[in-house]
Amino acid sequence: MKIVFATGNRGKLAEAAEILGPGYELLTPRDLGLTEDIPETGMTLRENSIQKARYIYDRLGCDCFADDTGLEVDALDGAPGVFSARYAGPECDFKANVAKLLRELEGVPYEKRTARFKCVVTLILGGRMHFFEGRCEGHIALQPAGDLGFGYDPVFIADQFAPLTFAQVGPDQKNTVSHRGQSLRALSAGLSALSGAPSADCPT
Ligand code: IMP
Repeated sequence: MKIVFATGNRGKLAEAAEILGPGYELLTPRDLGLTEDIPETGMTLRENSIQKARYIYDRLGCDCFADDTGLEVDALDGAPGVFSARYAGPECDFKANVAKLLRELEGVPYEKRTARFKCVVTLILGGRMHFFEGRCEGHIALQPAGDLGFGYDPVFIADQFAPLTFAQVGPDQKNTVSHRGQSLRALSAGLSALSGAPSADCPT
C-alpha cells in the first residue's frame, strides 16, 4: 500500500519504514511536489498531528498519516512538551534544542531528570481520521552521548536501556520501546484492521 507520511524528517521516515515494513511504500510530501514547511501551531500534540495530516489531505486528497512528538521533562514542569521542535527558537536545529535543555537542567541531579516522549499519530484513510498513541519513560542524561538517531536522542535514556541513550543504542533497539515505535505499530495494526475500509490512493 502507498501512503504519505507527512514529514520532512529523515530520521522519522527511516524509523517508520522499518516499523511498518515492506508492505507499505512511504511517500513524503516532497516526493509529491510539496516542499513547504507544514504548519504546527496547535497547543497539543494531537492538534499538531491533526494539522499536519489535514494539511496533506487537503492538498493531495490521498491517504496519509502524521505524527507529533513532545518531550516532557518533570523538573521543567512538562517543558518543552508541544514546543519541543522549536525549544531554542524559531529556526533552531537539534543541537541548539539539546543545548538549551541541558542548560535548563543544570544542577538537577540524575534521579530528578525524569522525562518521557509522547507521540500522537493521526491517520486519514478514505477521508476518515484515526488516532494512535505511544509514550516512552526515561531520564535526561547529564551530557549528550552517541551519534545515532536524531533530535533529543543523544540525551534521552529510556528506562529499558539505562544507562545508554537512544543515540547509543541505535534505531533498531530504540524502535522496540520508543513512543514512535508504539504508535506506529498501533497504526500498522489499525491499517490491517481497516483493510476493507474506503481509501484514497496516492497520486503516484
Ligand atoms: P515533531 O514531532 O517533529 O514536532 O518533533 C518535536 C521535536 O522532538 C523535534 O525537535 C524532533 O527532533 C524531536 N523528536 C521527535 N521525535 C523524536 C525522537 O524519536 N527522538 C528524539 N527527538 C525526537
